Amino acid sequence: MTLLALLLATLPAIARTGAPAMPQSGEDGIVFPASTSQGALVFGKVPAGSVVRYAERELRPTPYGTVVFGVDRQEVGPLRLEVLRPDGTTVMETIAVDARDWPLERVDGVPPKTVNPPPAIAERIRREQALVTEARTRDDQRADFAAPFQWPVQGRISGRFGSGRVYNGQPGAGHSGMDIAAPTGTPVKAPAAGVVTFSDDLYLTGGTIVLDHGHGVSSNFLHLSRMDVKPGDRVLQEQVIGAVGATGRATGPHLHWGMNWFDVRVDPLLVLERTQ
Ligand SMILES: [Zn+2]
Repeated sequence: MTLLALLLATLPAIARTGAPAMPQSGEDGIVFPASTSQGALVFGKVPAGSVVRYAERELRPTPYGTVVFGVDRQEVGPLRLEVLRPDGTTVMETIAVDARDWPLERVDGVPPKTVNPPPAIAERIRREQALVTEARTRDDQRADFAAPFQWPVQGRISGRFGSGRVYNGQPGAGHSGMDIAAPTGTPVKAPAAGVVTFSDDLYLTGGTIVLDHGHGVSSNFLHLSRMDVKPGDRVLQEQVIGAVGATGRATGPHLHWGMNWFDVRVDPLLVLERTQ
């Protein structure tokens, strides 16, 4: 992670708040942004061999000293990190969190059986969600997450991360990813390299792939009409992994792209903006 990349990482925050969000000085070999926003994936740099603690987790630096973590969309901050350097000294870092607006989106015309699933289906949905959750617990040493991400398909953003959702007039959970409108059959390309940890056809999310980018960072792709990869497959950036569809709880063909840091959902758009 270069200083330039870290500066770029802070640009979305600057655009929203008008306040400078310069990375804190790295004179001690530690660089974190002074502020971030809800739903962001935060990158930092520490001396190789450091131990970083955040939110009861230990962040393992890459060989280049990069660490990464996600900020929940309801996190108000400030975030506190503890860096134990190889020389035995400890440094506390504090990161402010900028609040975002989470507008309400109304989604009408979704299949009623996906809004109020029949009781017999509820158990299947629970089981399927547990499998996807399990696929996101992986903590792999690969640092695929550290390279710039690319759009998996080109298209209009038809649903934003974090919006409150009302399905057929009934309040649902906040939108867990970004929707990109594209015709059924459009190839979906891996936004970054990774290893496939899940690929199956599920009740609510239809054709579903989870791609692990290392260090707890993963992508999920939903409503696919076709899946070209299976768990264990190593995928390169831009490799076609499946095709856009409208399977599961969807009103029309689009790609739902979600991103996680373990169980924390983050906004793919912020991850893309970091590198543009
Ligand atoms: Zn979606």
